[in-house]
Amino acid sequence: MPKHIAILGSTGSIGTQTLDVVRANPEELVVEVLTANQNADLLIKQALEFLPNAVVIADSSKYKEVNNALAAHDIKVYAGVDALSQVVQMGTIHTVVTAMVGYAGLQPTIKAIEAGKHIALANKETLVVAGDLITRLIQEHNVFITPVDSEHSAIFQCLTGEPEKIEKIILTASGGPFRTKTIDELKLVKKAQALKHPNWEMGAKITIDSASMMNKGLEVIEAKWLFGVKNQQIDVVVHPQSIIHSMVQFTDGSIKAQMGLPDMKLPIQYALSYPDRWHTDFPRLDFNVCQNLTFEQPDLEKFQCLALAYQALEKGGNTPAIINAANEIAVEAFLSDKIGFLHIPELIEKAMNGISFVKSPSYADYVASDTETRRFVKSLI
Ligand code: NDP
Repeated sequence: MPKHIAILGSTGSIGTQTLDVVRANPEELVVEVLTANQNADLLIKQALEFLPNAVVIADSSKYKEVNNALAAHDIKVYAGVDALSQVVQMGTIHTVVTAMVGYAGLQPTIKAIEAGKHIALANKETLVVAGDLITRLIQEHNVFITPVDSEHSAIFQCLTGEPEKIEKIILTASGGPFRTKTIDELKLVKKAQALKHPNWEMGAKITIDSASMMNKGLEVIEAKWLFGVKNQQIDVVVHPQSIIHSMVQFTDGSIKAQMGLPDMKLPIQYALSYPDRWHTDFPRLDFNVCQNLTFEQPDLEKFQCLALAYQALEKGGNTPAIINAANEIAVEAFLSDKIGFLHIPELIEKAMNGISFVKSPSYADYVASDTETRRFVKSLI
């Protein structure tokens, strides 16, 4: 029986690669829903190829364009942000791939879980903002979550068959394009340099997060919730070659690693094939070519975003939601040339100190913290 999937954010980097996986596995996967924010052209093209049950364009001003282009087909067209939360509840959907970027992914993910859908989770911001709430809902609704992030997929694969007796999780980080730069050099880096990741082709926001190492910080928080470990059980090691995607050290000292060439289609496919593995024709890792695997400690003085994420993890409550919102606004401002690269951690730190702390936040508290932080950081820019 093929799995029927909805892809939230089908026009992005993860979304388009998920569709590559569908193309390669037409017997296994059927597309029910595709969604985009503004990219009507690509959404239409995808809809004409995959003929889903429904599409959503979050930007309502593009509704007419999408609706007209798909009028001759039996495809429902919806518009607006609320439609994302409604469409994930469709009875025919088995798994929702959350490939939207940022906080906007939170509400549709909650609605999908409440409707009993399995989640293939790429949108790490969801777990960063409201990890406790999401984990509770997952248990309550008895749904399954498979990670798409390559590091978390690696850990998930290491834990398959023996999910207990974890001593620690070792998240690998490439170190990004600025690994070898000095703090003085970082003050002057430009958008174009930050957007050039050495190993991965990704959307703009996560590429900047990788350059600042905030991405690794968000992943540490994501790992805590996905694997139910204590904060001290999560280590980060810089591994510039991105061949080892992450590791688990067990209580007997043994370490399992998952390895492969950096290609997001692999973790995306595993998130959809689990517990099965499907054949791929992807290039294989050749140890005769790749001879040097190196490791180093992350520099927390240089990459303050990672240090701030550790602090947020320790403090808990709504602090991860605050750093997430502050980071989203700061990255947007950096991408619009309004601030320098090192202003990103500065703004995040100010938000951490400036926004009121809530120890046990409700959903409404998360929403309020997000709104308040965005306003606060925008006022500083
Ligand atoms: P992209 O920016 O490439 O794509 C984002 C997608 O979300 C697009 O389809 C975009 O639509 C849609 N979108 C953006 N904002 C909104 C909104 N407000 N409402 C509705 N839809 C929206 O991002 P990535 O694919 O790189 O990343 C997606 C998620 O996956 C992120 O959370 C990221 O951290 C995570 N991730 C990504 C990896 C990667 O390799 N790219 C690796 C691991 C995790 P439109 O095209 O119309 O703008």
